[in-house]
Amino acid sequence: MYRTHTCGELRIADVNKNVTLSGWVQRVRNLGGMTFIDLRDRYGITQLVINSESSEDLASKADKLGREFVIQVMGAVAERSSKNSKIPTGDVEIILEKIEILNVSAVPPFTIEDDTDGGDELRMKYRYLDLRRTPVRRNLELRHQMGIEIRNYLSEKGFLDIETPFLIKSTPEGARDFVVPSRVHPGQFYALPQSPQVFKQLLMVAGYDRYFQIVKCFRDEDLRADRQPEFTQIDCEMAFVGREEVLSAFEGLTKHLFRKVKNIEIKDDFPRMSYADAMEFYGSDKPDIRFGMTFKNLTTQVQGKGFKVFDDAEYIGGICAEGCGEYSRKELDKLTDFVKKPQIGAQGLVYVKYNEDGTFKSSVDKFFDAEQLKLWADTFEAKPGDLLLILAGQKNKTLNALSELRLEMGSRLGLRDKNVFAPLWVVDFPLLEWDEDSQRFYAMHHPFTSPVKDDLELLNSDPGKVRADAYDLVINGVELGGGSIRIHNDQLQKKMFEVLGFTDEEARNQFGFLMNAFKYGAPPHGGIAFGFDRWVSLFAGLDSIRDVIAFPKNNAARDVMIDSPSPIHLSQLEELYIQLRATE
Ligand code: ASP
Repeated sequence: MYRTHTCGELRIADVNKNVTLSGWVQRVRNLGGMTFIDLRDRYGITQLVINSESSEDLASKADKLGREFVIQVMGAVAERSSKNSKIPTGDVEIILEKIEILNVSAVPPFTIEDDTDGGDELRMKYRYLDLRRTPVRRNLELRHQMGIEIRNYLSEKGFLDIETPFLIKSTPEGARDFVVPSRVHPGQFYALPQSPQVFKQLLMVAGYDRYFQIVKCFRDEDLRADRQPEFTQIDCEMAFVGREEVLSAFEGLTKHLFRKVKNIEIKDDFPRMSYADAMEFYGSDKPDIRFGMTFKNLTTQVQGKGFKVFDDAEYIGGICAEGCGEYSRKELDKLTDFVKKPQIGAQGLVYVKYNEDGTFKSSVDKFFDAEQLKLWADTFEAKPGDLLLILAGQKNKTLNALSELRLEMGSRLGLRDKNVFAPLWVVDFPLLEWDEDSQRFYAMHHPFTSPVKDDLELLNSDPGKVRADAYDLVINGVELGGGSIRIHNDQLQKKMFEVLGFTDEEARNQFGFLMNAFKYGAPPHGGIAFGFDRWVSLFAGLDSIRDVIAFPKNNAARDVMIDSPSPIHLSQLEELYIQLRATE
């Protein structure tokens, strides 16, 4: 038997027990008369002691131990004289009687401690060592717990966990597909699913009216921070439901997770906001509503006073940063630099300080007198001591930049506490998005999303105005999930493909199976999918999804540990009838 207990298990009540432990050597400290070893496993750390005088053999054996050696030890549990209240086993130690080296270890390339000296890339290369660290392990434990709670809840509500295939068919919509060449069908390719979307809809046609799956999805997207080419969705679909039933079912799941995992009871219904309002007041389709600081539109109020920047702008708007009226020149310059960063893209920043004595100081004093600035302050409902920050320019760009500025100010003012959670449903997204480059509409969500009933007529006359029966769950500015009520009528689906610029033949080629299925009694249905990795990272208080994935890819979509992607053997290519073209 390798062990009687784990390294996280022994307590004061175990004193005098003879135990056997196995684990990794975290640290050896030889203090002359005494040698201490910290032994670690998944469950914790236990202190081992050797009295060097009475146990010379053991002491010399301990001297040979290196970090991360795997050892088995036997001894008696004793009460510690100097206790360590930081760890659960801190009241006890094991007086060693025997050490067995089960395996040696090379010197690890970084310290395996909570605060490691290993850089990102090095930790990813040796991810199996990184995974030994407690904070990383806790993330995976959290992920496991959430997975269990999701399954329990959904299963309890009658949802069936049904697997769908990974080798499917490439479609031109959405992100780029990862494709897999077929050996038995030369020149033909499978695609890895971007999501099980069409399969879950087919399951609804098949009568499985409540489906879910915690499932890998694959998207060959351009690299952006916090994206992974493969990620995990909690994918769900329901039949005989409208929007309300879907939102209520998954608000239930969300509350359940908060209750079980975070010990947070959310009683109120989640607020809802239309996409239009989200954009107008927060400049984002995933507003962080932990704090206000909503946008005020000044466009009509400030134009025509001879200030060219404003007069030429399509949109002028701003936020009121409460209590920031004392900001120094230097701080304002920093904010200006912030909004001018290329990824934010504003041309400049206009500020108005509402001084404590009721006077104003602004960067546009030349064009606007105190009386006018007072009117602005009224629009913002600002008080003396506040600071107005205003941006101007092309509308969408400016809203976007203002959104970044708002988040920045929220962070500066400590309004984005990671322990506060503010869920929100964003609803009524536009159905379609116009793309200037290709001069066509794209589905904002996906081509199976149903238009809002009242807007059906507009599909012919003004497709850009049609609202989708789609919804996103947003928590703290993170889009945790999204879904929609689907089209379940083959004629409407056909119409949708037409609006998206598919010829009849293209639609039949790509999605014929779905339109066919719709001819055989498709029930009304809708669903949602959540980003599982994101949800775990939100609950873990992390900014990146990488830390909650056991073996993630790096920012260049590479697995640096197994070194993938990598070339394959010529014979494999030949089997697949694939010839490589020289790359520049
Ligand atoms: N399949 C969609 C997605 O991955 C989610 C849904 O509509 O259920 O975004």
